[in-house]
Amino acid sequence: MEMHKGALKPCREKPTREELLSHYIHFVLDHDLNINTDEEVVGIDKLDTEEFLVHTTRNGYRAARILFAIGAMAHPRRLNIPGEDLPKVHHLFVEPYAYIRKDALVVGGGNSAAEAALFLSEEGARTTLAIWREDWENRDPKAGAMKHWVRTPLEKEVAAGRLRVVLYKDVISITEQEVTLTTEAGESLTIPNDVAFVLVGSDADLTLLKKLGVKTEPGKLTEIPVYDPETFETNVHGLYVAGHFTHARHIKAAIDVPRRIVPLIAQGLRANVATE
Ligand SMILES: Cc1cc2nc3c(=O)[nH]c(=O)nc-3n(C[C@H](O)[C@H](O)[C@H](O)COP(=O)(O)OP(=O)(O)OC[C@H]3O[C@@H](n4cnc5c(N)ncnc54)[C@H](O)[C@@H]3O)c2cc1C
Repeated sequence: MEMHKGALKPCREKPTREELLSHYIHFVLDHDLNINTDEEVVGIDKLDTEEFLVHTTRNGYRAARILFAIGAMAHPRRLNIPGEDLPKVHHLFVEPYAYIRKDALVVGGGNSAAEAALFLSEEGARTTLAIWREDWENRDPKAGAMKHWVRTPLEKEVAAGRLRVVLYKDVISITEQEVTLTTEAGESLTIPNDVAFVLVGSDADLTLLKKLGVKTEPGKLTEIPVYDPETFETNVHGLYVAGHFTHARHIKAAIDVPRRIVPLIAQGLRANVATE
């Protein structure tokens, strides 16, 4: 995850979110990178000159090539159950400190849910993790299993009686004070609840890409843009993709792929200039 080997010195085995963000921010500051924050790309036109015109919330830019690295967090998935729009229900977890000594439910089977359940339980929330058996028993990192540095302390919380794991089938409803689930044995289970985190994955917003004519295909869980697996160029010439919303979706690939393709994109542009 570090920009240069050895540059990130976490306090524990793995860096925290804050340590990682600070590392990236200082990399940007130290190298005076030309990054505009708080600026959303809201539209892109392809011009006859083979260039793109990029419209943002602050400005407009011309570009010969575009690399989309928009992540896959735009649309959190929903359970579509009664009570999901209550203010106490969240589809994103940031930190546990507001929920100390509260009854917290986390629904989900991936790393986001596992991490949220762990942090809530460690910081004194009375936490229940509602998880499908296949996710709880999944030990294959390639199939999205919980990372071992999350599972080990999570199991310690369970063994210490601070975290309850419910192997569930469905969440039926959420009310101001309670949540009702069906367990995998088919029994109805109603538990007290102050806050619920529904962390069942999220999908990218592919609207900008599709408007430009980029083709997509169904992936394992969600829709993925079609691209050349070597160059990561889409069917629209000059338009590339990388990161969490492609098949190379984990952070290692989200770092490795741009490291490989950005020099190739630059090389291609230089070759174009030389022949003009
Ligand atoms: C809770 C959690 C824990 C994780 N822990 C780990 C871990 O320990 N190890 C690991 O390998 N991976 C981990 N991951 C996965 C990792 O975060 C992703 O693989 C990685 O962030 C993907 O990087 P990305 O650049 O593709 O997307 P992102 O990091 O999601 O970045 C995309 C960026 O694009 C911006 N954006 C989107 N649309 C627009 C637009 N129209 N205009 C301007 N900007 C836009 C977004 O705001 C966002 O900042 C974790 C993920 C989560 C949610």
